Amino acid sequence: LNGPAENTLGERVKVVVRVRPPRGQETGGAIGLDQNGTRLVVFRENSVVPQSEFEYDQVLPPSATQADVYQAAVQPIVADVMNGYNGTIMAFGQTGAGKTYTLSSIQPDAIGMMPRAGAEIFEEISADPGNEYTVFMSYIQIYMELIQDLLRPENENLQIRESENGVFVAGVQEVEVKGMQDCLHLLQIGDRNRVVAFTNLNAHSSRSHAIVMLTVIKRRRLGATSRGEVQKVKVGKLFIVDLAGSERLKKSRSTGLRATEAKSINLSLTTLGMCINARADPNSQHVPFRDSKLTRLLQESLGGNAKTSLVIAVANAIEHVDESLQTLQFGARAM
Ligand code: ADP
Ligand code: MG
Repeated sequence: LNGPAENTLGERVKVVVRVRPPRGQETGGAIGLDQNGTRLVVFRENSVVPQSEFEYDQVLPPSATQADVYQAAVQPIVADVMNGYNGTIMAFGQTGAGKTYTLSSIQPDAIGMMPRAGAEIFEEISADPGNEYTVFMSYIQIYMELIQDLLRPENENLQIRESENGVFVAGVQEVEVKGMQDCLHLLQIGDRNRVVAFTNLNAHSSRSHAIVMLTVIKRRRLGATSRGEVQKVKVGKLFIVDLAGSERLKKSRSTGLRATEAKSINLSLTTLGMCINARADPNSQHVPFRDSKLTRLLQESLGGNAKTSLVIAVANAIEHVDESLQTLQFGARAM
């Protein structure tokens, strides 16, 4: 043995909390932030004494912009992906807390993390003429443990396979993208297909995990030989994961399809939590990657020497304090 055992699960997850402002009829004042941006406290209605206090790598206030979130949670990961490593950005929180806004807003004044990551990838490509790059985008959702291709919605039961190159979704549509506009376009197509799929099921799209995968293939010419050109190839994958709403459904309302739905969301979010917590604990023995499709797909990214950012989305609203506490606890355990 060479020195102390290394944590084979790699670097720990970076946890960034984003607090969104109250909306509509919501009452603010539920969340208080400290000055240096790493701690927050939660208040219950009519109480000036904090109910709980939490600490994270970073806490972003309601005034934070999409650019602020990008800098905190995404930028360090994109650089790695350009160099052949995997990276993951996940958003966790109850429905309405701001996950989709954060990750995939296409509002021109509030472009989300996914198109921003695309933009940075293409900027770096144009600044690096010494290498040749190809970028592919896929877009899938996992609903009740079935993987549907959102770019080819008729493929609604794709399988996860493993080869010497790693874990992959067999038969998923991979579309070559040449710039951020292509990413935005595919994002819109996928979102439209997602809405149609859920309307057909009479269900809500917040009940599935939506996953954008960007694959960056980098080739460096090492020179020509009599047998042809020698190239060094690196492949990096970026996963952007909009997780299903973490809210606990009321037992009385959960029957039939809704109950099965709730069970499968519970299973995958609980398994995700266990896999992330195992990574934070160097002594952990068994990591249950295989217990859900989501963790199986993300296995290499959650486990290897890949960076992961977890964006914890909470609303600064008294009405949502109970769910926010659950959400914040999930984030705190991931550290
Ligand atoms: P989720 O995906 O977690 O269910 P959404 O991203 O759809 O939640 O957000 C719910 C609503 O709140 C949307 O109308 C969204 O535009 C708005 N919203 C979310 N986060 C913010 C924010 N940081 N600033 C302003 N509006 C936000
Ligand atoms: Mg959403």
